[in-house]
Amino acid sequence: MTVLIAGGGIGGLTLALSCQQLKIPFVIFEKTKTLEPLGVGINLQPNAVRELSDLNLKQDLYKIGVETQEFGLFSKKGLEIWTEPRGLAAGYNEPQFSVHRGQLQKLLYDKLIERADWFSIKTGYSVISFENLSNGVKLTCLNKRSEKEETFFGNILVGCDGINSQVRKQMYPNEQPPIWNGAVLWRGITSEAPFRTKASMVMIGHDTQRFVSYPISGPDRNGRSIINWIAELKFDPSNPWPKGDWSKKVNKSKFINQFKNWSFEWINPYQLISDAGDVFEYPMVDREPLEKWTFDNTTILGDAAHPTYPVGSSGASQAIVDSRKLVYHLKKQGLNKSALISYENEMRPLTNKITLTNRQAGPDALLQVVEDRCDGKFIEIEDVISKKEMKEHADKYKTVAGINIQRLNNSKGILSKYF
Ligand SMILES: Cc1cc2nc3c(=O)[nH]c(=O)nc-3n(C[C@H](O)[C@H](O)[C@H](O)COP(=O)(O)OP(=O)(O)OC[C@H]3O[C@@H](n4cnc5c(N)ncnc54)[C@H](O)[C@@H]3O)c2cc1C
Repeated sequence: MTVLIAGGGIGGLTLALSCQQLKIPFVIFEKTKTLEPLGVGINLQPNAVRELSDLNLKQDLYKIGVETQEFGLFSKKGLEIWTEPRGLAAGYNEPQFSVHRGQLQKLLYDKLIERADWFSIKTGYSVISFENLSNGVKLTCLNKRSEKEETFFGNILVGCDGINSQVRKQMYPNEQPPIWNGAVLWRGITSEAPFRTKASMVMIGHDTQRFVSYPISGPDRNGRSIINWIAELKFDPSNPWPKGDWSKKVNKSKFINQFKNWSFEWINPYQLISDAGDVFEYPMVDREPLEKWTFDNTTILGDAAHPTYPVGSSGASQAIVDSRKLVYHLKKQGLNKSALISYENEMRPLTNKITLTNRQAGPDALLQVVEDRCDGKFIEIEDVISKKEMKEHADKYKTVAGINIQRLNNSKGILSKYF
């Protein structure tokens, strides 16, 4: 009885920890030999924090991240359009955290090493292909140390291998590369005094030029935090898309001049970019929602199943929720195809909706509404857009993303009935 897990990112490691928690045997295969703290900032919404809390990781999240207090939208002139409290401050039973993605992955990995048998964790194993069998699945990997192929057998296989998933590729051999919407994101971190609440996440600008920022550490003794930022510009999507992986480093001269006039009393995007070290480039891509995730004894989760634009802070959170839901069905029905189908039936419609909503009506959509109505300049925001319209938009998105405050507070952790 074994779950084979392809990919040791946020989703795969949470799946492994959840299997370990309920004593379901598993083996996880991660292609990198040594996990490096790759990536920059990501957000964990209260629905994901509750699950990590059920894995006894909440105190560790306080150590590696910042408890997010506020989310805000601002025009390209730095003027406040909409702000709302987040996490506990908003009335959730659980906080929201802003963390460094690499540190979160390392935390999950270290806990897995601590809690699970060594033979269940295989790094330096790149998944090449799978074969569904009548009573299970056969997985072929390249052992990157010996450079030899090895095969493994399990009851089920779960592809958690990210946006360029090899498992998904085998399921859909004719699928085209990820779809680019024309925007390019440049991401970096800078040591600087935090703005507003000192734990605020802000989006500034509009569809064709935007700056997103939030701290991912508390202030040090000099009052400086590690500030995560994303500078975004939109180009003609019919141009060849700037293929890239999450770790593609570029020179900031590619975009910094476009932000020369972006300096406001409360935040200085130009300075944040100027003072940053490495800058990473990533195209704004997603994939078309799928009609089927499960093929016999194999399924997919997280970015492998539903990569989406990073506009609603839902990528990592959703991978965590997927993992817990899958384990719920495995525990209930056993390691078989029916459990995989129950998981898919529950999660696929929800996550497909998030992907489609993020294309047009993510939380950031109000930025363009304000830009269109007043070119980003106003004295009273209510002369441009009503508070009611903005609140309705924010509430609607929360429901789509599974973080409606009342619904979440009235429910329990996904696996809570099992421990
Ligand atoms: C290096 C890296 C940096 C990132 N940085 C950011 C960031 O700064 N901001 C942001 O919003 N999101 C970032 N992401 C994406 C973010 O982690 C995901 O959107 C989200 O956490 C969903 O997690 P996931 O587990 O589905 O996918 P991921 O976290 O992408 O994990 C996929 C894992 O599968 C492994 N893998 C891939 N192919 C194979 C294979 N053939 N065999 C075995 N293992 C394989 C990868 O090495 C990776 O560890 C990054 C992802 C990666 C891999």
